[in-house]
Amino acid sequence: MFTRYLKLLIKFPLLIGLSILTAIASIIFGVSRVDALQVMLTPNAPKLGDTVSVLIAASNTPTVSIGRKQYPAFAIVPNRWRAFIPTTPLDKAGPKQVVVTGDGLQQTLAMPLANRQFPTQRIWIDESGGGSEPTDYEWDKVSAFKKLVTAQKLWNGAFLRPNDGEITSVFGVQRYYNGVFADDYYHRGVDYGGGVGSPVIAPAAGYIRLVGTVGQGFRLHGNTIGLDHGQGVASIFLHLSKIYVKEGDFVKAGQTIGAVGATGAVTGAHLHWGLYVNGEAIDPVAWRYATIE
Ligand SMILES: [Zn+2]
Repeated sequence: MFTRYLKLLIKFPLLIGLSILTAIASIIFGVSRVDALQVMLTPNAPKLGDTVSVLIAASNTPTVSIGRKQYPAFAIVPNRWRAFIPTTPLDKAGPKQVVVTGDGLQQTLAMPLANRQFPTQRIWIDESGGGSEPTDYEWDKVSAFKKLVTAQKLWNGAFLRPNDGEITSVFGVQRYYNGVFADDYYHRGVDYGGGVGSPVIAPAAGYIRLVGTVGQGFRLHGNTIGLDHGQGVASIFLHLSKIYVKEGDFVKAGQTIGAVGATGAVTGAHLHWGLYVNGEAIDPVAWRYATIE
């Protein structure tokens, strides 16, 4: 009898502990099973330079963020939303937490951002020279263009090659200036070595939202076109010899908008095409060869 009583004393706190644990587990399990948002990341194992699509099932506009940074979400079909997270060579590889809220619910997803090696260049410059700083006018115009986020999706399918010339510099190339690694530099686009006067075509449809010329002070970028594809996706074309469009024009995919040149700070004629997502220059390769909705 006495030993049985002892056993009960020992068992009792164990039973209480166990039932508390079970209750906690059922709350956690219940919440994640019943009240979770449906969210999907594509690609699910991104590397530096990739654009990550966040697909969300919700009835009202969800919010998508990593830390304090928010990414706008747009309806793609009723009750389905998509936000783009741009990644660049300047991001730190490693685990990221994507927080999505919608319909009064919150979901946190792990996004492992993998490292990627980019080619490097060693540039030797004469520091006594003035360099090629943009003018204030140029800087303000280009910055405003990159911040543009408009509601309508204007691209459709894979992006076209903007010039027939061979690729002379890929996305993401990093630099050493006079032997010192440039922390905030990476090649924010792709260079095509088409000759002076060869056509520059719109890789996707959109509205022309920036035209800048050397005459107006575009001494770094040279003659420039900015093309808004909508929903935070935009192309910029630099160093042009000719511009055939004006701000406000709508252009179709494949339409000739300008010609290759050597204006601005360049060592030779080429087209620089930069593709921006929510203000960051991302690797356009995935956009060229896949349909990103
Ligand atoms: Zn370039």
